[in-house]
Amino acid sequence: MHSFEYKNGSLHCEDVNLQDIAEQYGTPAYVYSANTILDHYRRLDAALAEIDHCVEYAVKANSNLSVLRLLAEEGSGFDIVSGGELFRVIKAGGDPKKCTFAGVGKTRAEIEYALEQGIYSFNVESEEEAAFINVVAGEMGKVAPIAFRVNPNVDAKTHKYISTGKSENKFGVDFAYIEAAYERASQLENVKLIGLQMHIGSQLTSVSPFIEAVEKVSPLAAKLKATYGIEFFSIGGGVGIVYDPALESAKPEWWAAQEEEQRPLTIEEYAAGVLPKLKELGLKILLEPGRYIVGNAGVMLTQCLYEKKGSAKTFKVVDAGMNDLIRPALYEGHHEIVPVAQPAGDDNIKMDVVGPICETGDFFMQNAELPNFPVGSVIALLSSGAYGFTMASNYNTRPMPVEIMVDGDQAKVIRKRQSLDDLIAAEL
Ligand SMILES: *Cc1c(COP(=O)(O)O)cnc(C)c1O
Repeated sequence: MHSFEYKNGSLHCEDVNLQDIAEQYGTPAYVYSANTILDHYRRLDAALAEIDHCVEYAVKANSNLSVLRLLAEEGSGFDIVSGGELFRVIKAGGDPKKCTFAGVGKTRAEIEYALEQGIYSFNVESEEEAAFINVVAGEMGKVAPIAFRVNPNVDAKTHKYISTGKSENKFGVDFAYIEAAYERASQLENVKLIGLQMHIGSQLTSVSPFIEAVEKVSPLAAKLKATYGIEFFSIGGGVGIVYDPALESAKPEWWAAQEEEQRPLTIEEYAAGVLPKLKELGLKILLEPGRYIVGNAGVMLTQCLYEKKGSAKTFKVVDAGMNDLIRPALYEGHHEIVPVAQPAGDDNIKMDVVGPICETGDFFMQNAELPNFPVGSVIALLSSGAYGFTMASNYNTRPMPVEIMVDGDQAKVIRKRQSLDDLIAAEL
C-alpha cells in the first residue's frame, strides 16, 4: 500500500499535487512519501512484535540522508554494503551499534572504519574474509563481531540477476561447508562469532521460498547457538512489492479483492510464515528489508519531450533516461507509467517510452498500451523508490535528478538537482 493516487484529476503524493512539483522543481524528479515509508517500517516492526528482533534497513535501496534519518528516528538499524553507506548512516543520526555490514568484497579501509565505529556485526561471505578481518582487528587491538552468511541453496524464483541463495551464486558460504567455517573461525583470536545470516534474493512475491530457507537453516542456527553462543539469526531481506498494477495496489480494497491464491505477499503473511520456526530458536531475529520499505514509496517524474512516429511504432521520448532509472535496462524491471493529469481512459495507444540516452536499452516500456499523453505533459514511473536514485549515474554527462520528500501537504527538496558545475567539480 502507498500514498500515490489521483485526486481532482491529478496524481498526488499524499496531499501534494505532482503537477505542482514538476512545475516548481523540474523533471526528472524523484518524489518520496514519508508516510508510506513509515507505514511500511511500522507494519513490519509490529508484525514481529512477538519476538526479539531488529529491522536492518538495506541502505542500498535508497540511501538519501532524509530517508535514513526518518528510519533512524523510528529506531531502525541499517544493513550496509560499503564504508560509504556507514558514513551516510552516521551522518543521518543512525546508530553504528545497530549496523550490519554485508558484501563479498570488504576492503581493509572499510573494515578499519567499521571497527572504529563499533558496528554490530560483519556479515562475512567467506572464510578468507573472516581471516582477513581477524588480522585487521588484531592490528587495531580489537575483537570483530562476525556472522557468516550461509548460502542455503534454495530457489528464490525471482529474476536471475537478483537471486542470491543458490550454490552457483557468488554469495555466502555453501551450506555444506558452513559448520566447518564456524569451527575454524572459532579458533581466530580477534573475531567473535555472534550470529548467522542469509539472504536468498530480492523481489520475492511468495512466502514459500522464505519458509523453505528458514526451515532449512533454523536447525543450523540452533546448533551454532548451542556450540558458539551466537546471539542473532538474520533472515535477510527480499520481500517483494507490487509493480503491476502499482497504482491500484495503493488501496487496502485492492488487496482485499485479490483471490487468495493470487494475492501478492503481504508483510503480515510473511511474518506469520516465518515466525513459528523462528520463535523456537530464542535468538534475536534480524531482517534486512530494502525494497519493501521504500520501493512503492517513490515515483520518478519525467516530461514528454517529443513524439516520434516511426514506421513500426510510436515513440514517446521523455527527459529521463536509463542513467536516472536503470532497472528496466538492467533487469527488465517494470515501472507502471501513469500520466500525472488523469487520463479519460479511452485514448490508449501502443507505444515505446524511451529516454534520450545513446543506448538501445534506454527505454522504460516497450509495446505498451498507454494513455496517449501529449508532448509537454508529465508522467510518473511508479514504484521507483528502491534501486532508483541509488543506481543513477552521470552517464552522458547528465546531472543527477532532484529528490523530494512529501509529508502530508509539505514537499521538501532532500537532494538538490546536480548542477553542471557539480558534475565536473572533481576533475582536472
Ligand atoms: C540487497 C540486500 C538486501 C535487501 O534486499 P531487498 O530485496 O531490497 O529487500 C538485504 N540483505 C542483503 C545482504 C542485501 O544484499
